[in-house]
Amino acid sequence: MSITAIRGFNDILPGDSEIWRHIEKEAHGIFSSYGFSEIKTPIAEKTELFKRSIGETTDIVEKEMYTFADRHGDLITLRPEGTASVVRAYIEHKLYTTPVNKLYYFGPMFRYERPQKGRYRQFYQIGAEVLGDASPRADAEALAMLMSFFERIEVKGAELQINSLGCLECRAVYKERLKEYLSGVASRLCENCLRRMEANPLRALDCKSPGCIEATERAPSILDSLCGACKDHFEKVKYYLRLSGIEPKINPRMVRGLDYYTKTTFEITSTGLGSQNAVAAGGRYDRLVSELGGPETPCFGFAIGIERVALILKEGGGYKKPLTVFIALGDKAEERSIQLLKGWRERGIRVVEDFSTGALKNRMKRADRMGARYTVILGEDELNSGVVAIKDMKTSAQVKLPFDLAADRVSIE
Ligand code: ATP
Ligand code: MG
Repeated sequence: MSITAIRGFNDILPGDSEIWRHIEKEAHGIFSSYGFSEIKTPIAEKTELFKRSIGETTDIVEKEMYTFADRHGDLITLRPEGTASVVRAYIEHKLYTTPVNKLYYFGPMFRYERPQKGRYRQFYQIGAEVLGDASPRADAEALAMLMSFFERIEVKGAELQINSLGCLECRAVYKERLKEYLSGVASRLCENCLRRMEANPLRALDCKSPGCIEATERAPSILDSLCGACKDHFEKVKYYLRLSGIEPKINPRMVRGLDYYTKTTFEITSTGLGSQNAVAAGGRYDRLVSELGGPETPCFGFAIGIERVALILKEGGGYKKPLTVFIALGDKAEERSIQLLKGWRERGIRVVEDFSTGALKNRMKRADRMGARYTVILGEDELNSGVVAIKDMKTSAQVKLPFDLAADRVSIE
């Protein structure tokens, strides 16, 4: 029996990898134009880091982490998300000596979830973090950057939902209100939510079980519990978003799956993905840096799910450059092709030379099986008149063009 990949772990094959590269390239471009720099952190960390940051009573920490002892017996975890590592690095390397750090990352994350369309056990995120900025303008700017990214790569129907989880003080007040409400509907809550009701009642609002969704329909809104400062922050975020031309949808039930958020939380959804419709999510985390041993540092961050974005773009077409297969016939043409194709490649043309021998008919078939959009033939006659023959593999039409014009022709999809 042949060996297959681990369940929920994917290969990104040609056809998809071009879409991925496009997404990555646009993200690098846009993020850098807002002053973000890339950070690369390890894919594994000490387990303690995720427990302390994401929260002991979250789904991620309770049941989704890839945790194991290394050969020395130390517990390590494959990162389930990127923020904890960025914050760890921020503190470890004292990046806080600069007033504001704008960092972004790209890489695989690991969560032991039930694999399905848009949900995998290894998945990739592009994330960005603004560390050291308390202004609501920082929230709004990062969200506007994210929305322009989706606009640039043409993810249609992206919708921004926002909420505020308040600060430690007002959330404590809300937690009490929510607990009171939940004890009234306790008989309809799932076991998990019941167990976590004392320690972390907010989790019930994030639970996907139908009973909990129904039971919490009339739960009090956290927005009614916000203190003056948190209310003001939330109003300003919405105000600046509108100045950027973005009308957010308010969703007071959105508490997100990680415990470190304060004030603004958000999610961006898109159509066409079925139930796995969140393409990006994040929020403000003003307490995390200090909780992990660094100085008080207000932060805002988000992560984009690459697989889900790639699925959307794939439905819209793809980004593969047309492939040309080049067939030289005879010694002279073979020798001429070396310099000719060097020039074409410098112009960004995607061309593969077929080095096989045999009948032209068979070599044409081979080109077709390789996925050629065009097949270009340089025989002795063509060589003498400085032209090549181009066959359009879609329409079967053939033309002869001088070398230069031929290069232009095979650039067209
Ligand atoms: P969901 O509600 O879909 O489980 P989440 O709240 O767990 O998402 P975050 O931890 O905030 O998601 O991660 C941000 C983004 O990463 C999500 O919006 C999604 O696009 C993507 N993502 C999260 N988990 C997975 C996964 N298991 N497979 C693929 N993409 C994922
Ligand atoms: Mg999740």
